Amino acid sequence: MAMNFITRSTHHFTQLYSKLIPIQCRLCGAFCRGQVLCYDCIAELPQIEMACPRCALPTFSAQLCGRCLSKPPEQHASMSLYKYQDPVDRLIADFKFKDKLYLSQFFAEQMVSKLNSRTLPELLIPIPLHPHRLKQRGYNQSFELAKSLSKYLTIPVSNNYLERIINTQSQSSMPFKQRKKNIQHAFRATDKQPPQHIALIDDVLTTGHTANAAAKTLKKVGVITIEVWTIARTIRHD
Ligand SMILES: [Zn+2]
Ligand SMILES: [Zn+2]
Repeated sequence: MAMNFITRSTHHFTQLYSKLIPIQCRLCGAFCRGQVLCYDCIAELPQIEMACPRCALPTFSAQLCGRCLSKPPEQHASMSLYKYQDPVDRLIADFKFKDKLYLSQFFAEQMVSKLNSRTLPELLIPIPLHPHRLKQRGYNQSFELAKSLSKYLTIPVSNNYLERIINTQSQSSMPFKQRKKNIQHAFRATDKQPPQHIALIDDVLTTGHTANAAAKTLKKVGVITIEVWTIARTIRHD
């Protein structure tokens, strides 16, 4: 609890501080005002321009990709900002493992500008961490990102609809097939009735198995339209 307080305070302090005096860009060290990255570094981030609307895989025409045509994922739409490659992977590692929570505000700002005029969901649901994992890390990076998005979009955020019941991250030594099977049962819906249109929030869309399992769980309890919004997407990993 004390650690959370310190993290939050540091977060607010950094936000305030960055608006008052120049801070150094996290990537190149140049001094910039009010941003965690300088404009040059932001411009060079590997943006996903056109992508499959269903799974966010980069495509040439923004049409459904072959995989979504033959075997569509559970979610109805996906939006990812960047390709998961250098330096985005470093920024996300900072955000996830080094308590650089103020990066959530930067990522949220960038994500909001990409949402354009789409019909917004009624609720943001962060992909939950297993309680053991949450205790280890002290915060859920997806919840932090969802909270920042919620402020910009004025959509409520809640982590009370979905629980992670299998600690899949601790199974990295297991055979791939076994892990894939486990992830399918990793989530449980709570008894709270979710609205019909929601967005799942996560940091990276990798194989898609996690988002798929979470979406499937929520569909079973009546959610009709599910979107998956992530900071980055791994380009074909499975
Ligand atoms: Zn820079
Ligand atoms: Zn696709």
